[in-house]
Amino acid sequence: MSKKEKYLTISRLKKIPWLVHGFGLASFTPEDLKEDGKLASFQTVEMKQEHSSRVYYLEGPPADRLAGDGLVTGAEGLLLIIKTADCLPVFLIDIKNRVVAAVHCGWRSTYLEILLATVNLMKEKFSSQAENLLAALGPCIEKDCYEVGLEIFENFSAAGFKTDFIFWPSRNQGRFYLDLRKANWWFLVERLGLKPENIFQLNQCTFCQPGLHSFRRNKEKSLRLINFIGIQPQLMVNRAVNE
Ligand SMILES: [Zn+2]
Repeated sequence: MSKKEKYLTISRLKKIPWLVHGFGLASFTPEDLKEDGKLASFQTVEMKQEHSSRVYYLEGPPADRLAGDGLVTGAEGLLLIIKTADCLPVFLIDIKNRVVAAVHCGWRSTYLEILLATVNLMKEKFSSQAENLLAALGPCIEKDCYEVGLEIFENFSAAGFKTDFIFWPSRNQGRFYLDLRKANWWFLVERLGLKPENIFQLNQCTFCQPGLHSFRRNKEKSLRLINFIGIQPQLMVNRAVNE
């Protein structure tokens, strides 16, 4: 990553000519979305995120701000935004049908199976198949920093998650460490049938890294990382090729 870059990317995704994506660092602001030459032509779509399993399909920019935690589109020029500060941002890309999704995976949305709702919507609208899906998992609070209570353990257990794979008991009675990243990885592979080699991860912990925002560390709701994915307007792709 060069000094100037304010967001992290995944090299496999950068090779897709029609795609733009990034996992914002703390230094990446809403103004940067407008000033970055590559992103300036996009229309940004932000949700009122609510830790649900609600996912929307967009043919164009929505008239009002939608309340939910996942967006799916095959439309060019829409930049899907997920804001996080410890939760896991997940992008899905159907490389065959040219479809993208952005999902806000906190612990609640994860056990509520928001990724299933997302993939179901991609199947319904585009007949997407698991074998053609790539997934990208960005920075989140990682397991050694993420102690949770019994209630969360029980929610995952009741939803059929493999709890011995994603939880470790804490020394504190009735408390556990949750590996949120692994929970979503497991769900993508075991429940949704993605190929492990098609899942890419940025193994960075929001709590440990000062260059990232963490709600648990900052205790400040307004500080959130901006994560984005979108399909380049074709005109711009052609222009880039001709240059
Ligand atoms: Zn950490």
